[in-house]
Amino acid sequence: MPKCTLCLINEADKTGSHVVPHFLMKTIDNADHVKGRDKELGFKITEDFVTPYFGRDVSTNKLDEVFGELTEEDITASRSDIIADYIYCTSCEKKFSSLESAYAPTLNIDGSEVYQSTKSSLTAFLFWTSIVWRLSAYGKLGFKLAQNEENRLRVTLDKLLIAEVIDERDTATKAMFEDIRYVILRAPGYADKNETATYYHSKHRFPYCLLLGEYALFYYMKSSHVKSPQQSFFGLEKLLNRAPLNSIRNAEKIYPVTDEQMKSTWDSFVDFVNATRIKSLFRTLDELHIKLGGNGKHMHPKDKYDILNEIMAEGKDLGRTFTFEDIKQSTFKVLNKNHGITSKQ
Ligand SMILES: [Zn+2]
Repeated sequence: MPKCTLCLINEADKTGSHVVPHFLMKTIDNADHVKGRDKELGFKITEDFVTPYFGRDVSTNKLDEVFGELTEEDITASRSDIIADYIYCTSCEKKFSSLESAYAPTLNIDGSEVYQSTKSSLTAFLFWTSIVWRLSAYGKLGFKLAQNEENRLRVTLDKLLIAEVIDERDTATKAMFEDIRYVILRAPGYADKNETATYYHSKHRFPYCLLLGEYALFYYMKSSHVKSPQQSFFGLEKLLNRAPLNSIRNAEKIYPVTDEQMKSTWDSFVDFVNATRIKSLFRTLDELHIKLGGNGKHMHPKDKYDILNEIMAEGKDLGRTFTFEDIKQSTFKVLNKNHGITSKQ
């Protein structure tokens, strides 16, 4: 059995671990707006690829609606990505769950102005830090810290997370977190009424950007990164200069965003998902073009758009990854029509 990824000492004997705490997942889209475990719907977007992932209890009908027809393999592969087996030991899993229990009551606190979520700066800080570290150490959801940053967070979390009580007095270890800043934006109650998703930006580092249902987390590994040029994150980045910066020292303050702002974020996110999918399709078409012995490295844009329209005309949902078979059929139909090219098969 592998070693626990947090303590690196005990055997990782826990199964069914949620990498993102399930109480937070309750705020994350569960498609049918039913709160509960295993209802999450997320997107892993890396380079030109979009991979959806979803919990065990998301209804198959809803998945069909969002992603088109999914195969059993798609579903099994995705579900195995969000529920992790053998990454933590029982003792570390307990530390995470007591941290979650300590932070969970903040879900019920909100405000229309900037509000304080908890008096315990350490609990809030460790909670968000543990999410960042867990996603990175797990590595299967398209989010990765720089390796030295991941190591640093592991060492400090391992020292500061104590199952029964989080020791506010451990100043030496706290000092290791001194330079980290983070911002929390939240549209309180938004996830009760609307679709949301989880998405962890695979490239942004200054800060790291995570969308978690009705929350957005911006995590700065160094306070100097606050001055870095703005990175786009579905419009939410524009609020960063107004939102309070949190650290291990201050009682956490959350910047509330309106439902309209969150809706516009979701719309931008859906556009981004679709644009990424089209980019991925066009890259596949360029590869096909080369294999078919076409001139140059790229298929003619008109052919690409004709093929895209052909795929869409088949009634496929743009929200899902096109299967190779879909692409092949539509491609040959269009190439035959436009250029008289026929499939050898
Ligand atoms: Zn452990």
